[in-house]
Amino acid sequence: MINAIFIGPPGAGKGTVASMLHDECGYVPLSTGDILRRAVKEGTELGIKAKDYMDRGELVPDDVIIGIVKEYMATNDSAKGFIFDGFPRTIAQAEALQEMTQIDCVFLLDASEDVVIERLSGRRVCKKCGAIYHIKNHPPKVEGVCDICGGELYQRDDDREQTIRMRLRVYREQTAPLIDFYREKGLLVDIDANRDAVENAREIADYIKRHCSN
Ligand code: AMP
Repeated sequence: MINAIFIGPPGAGKGTVASMLHDECGYVPLSTGDILRRAVKEGTELGIKAKDYMDRGELVPDDVIIGIVKEYMATNDSAKGFIFDGFPRTIAQAEALQEMTQIDCVFLLDASEDVVIERLSGRRVCKKCGAIYHIKNHPPKVEGVCDICGGELYQRDDDREQTIRMRLRVYREQTAPLIDFYREKGLLVDIDANRDAVENAREIADYIKRHCSN
């Protein structure tokens, strides 16, 4: 069993790689972004609280996020371990996570701003099953329709250029300090996420097999 964290700017491909590793190796992705989007869609109290922050590209407050993660970990089977995707995003969240479980490795999926803006502005997501597409790099067979479940594809509100720029700023200011935090603990592994997600997933799976699993 391993617990791994994916850190990286929005658009680095964290969600795509986490879902590939789930399919291939059985690790359970824990994406706070996905949990929040589901809550917004269902109109729950959490969703109502989170929506404005998300639409502005800002971070949802730490106590809300930490509560979500605790609940998710308590109610989901993780025999193989979790891949934390998009959590932690602040030092306070990282410190809270330390109290909850042991972390075996932290992958920094880094990509240039030009690459992430191009990726995010072309990203489309299935409304029904959450599968991720790109209008140029990974288009669905039929425009606007999910290959897997036939659901309708949409553009996330926060994938518009102005919000993308805000999310990148928030990443630089609030999340990037985690890089040193984990490097000092000897846990950080650098991944060049300017490449295709398939290559990143392969490199990460190999690393986990060689260094982290037992
Ligand atoms: P993501 O899908 O990971 O890019 O997350 C989408 C949005 O959800 C972010 O821009 C934040 O508004 C919010 N969010 C997701 N994860 C966190 C987190 N760990 N801390 C604070 N806000 C988060």
